[in-house]
Amino acid sequence: MSQWIFLNGEFVTKENAKVSVYDHGFLYGDGVFEGIRVYAGNVFRLREHLVRLYESAKSILLDIPYTFEEMQGHVVETVRRNGLKDAYIRLVVSRGEGNLGLDPRSCKRPNVIIIAEQLALYPKEFYETGMEVVTVATRRNRGDALNPKIKSLNYLNNVLIKIEATLAGVSEALTLNSEGYVAEGSGDNVFLVKRGELFTPPSYVGALEGITRNAIIEIAGNLGYAVHEQPFTRHDVYVADEVFLTGTAAEIIPVVKVDGRVIGTGKPGAHTLRLLAAFKELVVRDGVKVYPEISTT
Ligand code: PMP
Repeated sequence: MSQWIFLNGEFVTKENAKVSVYDHGFLYGDGVFEGIRVYAGNVFRLREHLVRLYESAKSILLDIPYTFEEMQGHVVETVRRNGLKDAYIRLVVSRGEGNLGLDPRSCKRPNVIIIAEQLALYPKEFYETGMEVVTVATRRNRGDALNPKIKSLNYLNNVLIKIEATLAGVSEALTLNSEGYVAEGSGDNVFLVKRGELFTPPSYVGALEGITRNAIIEIAGNLGYAVHEQPFTRHDVYVADEVFLTGTAAEIIPVVKVDGRVIGTGKPGAHTLRLLAAFKELVVRDGVKVYPEISTT
């Protein structure tokens, strides 16, 4: 079965899903995007993802040519067209085709692309034995240069962080902001557990407001944890009882070693696993059903 990709209102095959080399998304990283998960036919927190997309677009003066409801319909239809139950969705709105100048006014119409694919899961051992990460020299983009709340196509900073992680022989890294506070991973948010309380950097430190991050804050609150959105340093990470990363693709990954320091017992922690279990329960319920005619209860 061929894969159907939504491209500006039409479904085309992967081979025919093409945009211009003059698209400013390609030339300048000018555009916004979302990564979204589908669990058992449920598009997890689709509304929250679309709010972030539309807010990012507003902030960069990019007019998305569909209403919120239309976009929601297009995302759901893309999953349905591809007959997927568990999937990863990439939704991209680029500035569109223009001339070689930076000025976005030469771009007459944004390109809207929705790709829904079978999920490429992370290796099982990350969840079972935990992950090792390092902090890297590449600092997070300053928020006064590019606000971290904007999920833009400009990911070079994140790519450089990922390259440094790979060169250090690990799969993910933590990046610091220019004041030395821990910001996030290359593509995920970070949490600490210390004396039974949770800590995660606030957005202004340089973290994207992750949908998974926000879900964990909510779940943890419901389970009675105190959750603090406050800046912390590498030292705080080293001496934490537990550390974990959150993201749409990663979900919740326990981190057991940072810069050679063993975290807690060196194994995925009890709080992390408890939050992961609660998250797994939430993801099949909270979102938009792709196949409403099939009851999952
Ligand atoms: N930070 C960055 C830089 C990211 O790219 C992502 C993934 N979109 C995240 C954090 C995690 O966000 P979410 O939980 O919404 O996937």
